[in-house]
Amino acid sequence: MRLIDVAIIGAGQAGLAMSRCLAVLGIGHAIFDRGRVAERWRTTAWDSLRMLTPNWINGLPWQPYDGADPHGFMTRNETIAFLERYAASFGAPVFERTPVMSLAADGSAFRLQTPDGAWRARAVVVATGHCDRAFIPSIAGRLSVDIASLHSSQYRSPGVIPDGGVLVVGSSPSGLQIAEELRRAGRKVILSSGAHTRVPRRWRGHDIFWWLSRLGKFSQRASEVADLDAEIRQPNVQLAGRPDHSDCDLPLMQALGIRLAGRVDGVEGGHVFFRDDLAESVTSADQRMAHILAAIDRFDGRPTNIGNIDFRRVDLAANDAPHMLSLRNENIRTVIWATGFRRAFPWIDLPVLRQDGEIRQTGGVTAVPGLYTLGFRFQCKRDSHFFGGVGTDALEIAGHVARFLGASLRQAA
Ligand SMILES: Cc1cc2nc3c(=O)[nH]c(=O)nc-3n(C[C@H](O)[C@H](O)[C@H](O)COP(=O)(O)OP(=O)(O)OC[C@H]3O[C@@H](n4cnc5c(N)ncnc54)[C@H](O)[C@@H]3O)c2cc1C
Repeated sequence: MRLIDVAIIGAGQAGLAMSRCLAVLGIGHAIFDRGRVAERWRTTAWDSLRMLTPNWINGLPWQPYDGADPHGFMTRNETIAFLERYAASFGAPVFERTPVMSLAADGSAFRLQTPDGAWRARAVVVATGHCDRAFIPSIAGRLSVDIASLHSSQYRSPGVIPDGGVLVVGSSPSGLQIAEELRRAGRKVILSSGAHTRVPRRWRGHDIFWWLSRLGKFSQRASEVADLDAEIRQPNVQLAGRPDHSDCDLPLMQALGIRLAGRVDGVEGGHVFFRDDLAESVTSADQRMAHILAAIDRFDGRPTNIGNIDFRRVDLAANDAPHMLSLRNENIRTVIWATGFRRAFPWIDLPVLRQDGEIRQTGGVTAVPGLYTLGFRFQCKRDSHFFGGVGTDALEIAGHVARFLGASLRQAA
């Protein structure tokens, strides 16, 4: 069995940021990934995906964005290259194609089982990603077998989607971007939208991320939030990273000729049923956006009245929101579920799992001494799962790891 001070599980931005911090502290470690560095961007992102966070915010520890386009948005391939370059810049000790199949206690340390053998580690950081497992609601199982059904993480491009129309379920940034791409490729598209969060790409001459970071939104700590689980479940903001910095929202979808529907409520063979809640979710997203924009204006010294904030709206009267669709009659041959991600840790055999399967942790520190997490949404603060936020969390966790290793060495002496 091989020995290591710290095992990091996952070689995405979180695992690599952790590795960089441990390397600076001179702490020996190894990173294990079931795939390759940046596996998520390689295998679960569609071809035309660009990051929705602007480049200037996408720095990692000791690696700020240093390219020529700080206000641009990295493509999927550029994101992979950025992470590969980062790993190479400090010789990150990554064991690729090495899934950790089990993690258990081994005396005062941990035992990790991989296909290549077992490892013993004194501390472990789980950095397996907030967007780890594609989530498709169970009603999808009732869909007729002649309708193609896939998760947004399996979508690549319009060319590989069966001919005919597409129902996209979910108005997250993924759902909107996929719906738009399919529509622009000439497909008939129906988009089902539940609760969503809307902001414009630019406001008063700046990117919305510039404003939100100045308002302190991203550094808001988990401890400052009243209902953390509700915050974690909040839908991601409807944004896309496009060279022209244009908006990606339901009014655009409507303008492109996409029919909007409420939340999917049921599926029966070739029929899909929708809630009558589109007007409500659109109105409430618009109101929340108006509040955010008014808060920005107040911060910027402009006494804006919420009622005066002007933005594009969905024309609800012109949209024929269906209550039920016969997929065959509408020639819809594919359903794409842009319904988000979950996490599951059946391979962790330690008393840290909640009933819902999530790891119980506060700020990345679990109740098992020496076991930490990194990269989960709101782990420490609002941007903990973002490129721009994971670095400061990694520094915090590296401090915990160093103190833990120091204390356990003193105990052993
Ligand atoms: C479509 C999409 C777009 C996004 N766009 C942005 C954006 O523009 N800006 C931004 O800041 N964030 C964005 N995010 C959020 C976030 O940055 C990404 O999810 C990012 O991949 C998270 O990095 P991570 O290192 O925490 O996890 P991941 O990148 O998911 O890395 C975790 C790694 O762990 C590995 N792994 C999992 N289980 C095991 C195991 N048992 N053994 C070994 N290895 C394992 C996986 O193979 C994976 O490589 C986006 C997310 C999605 C889904």
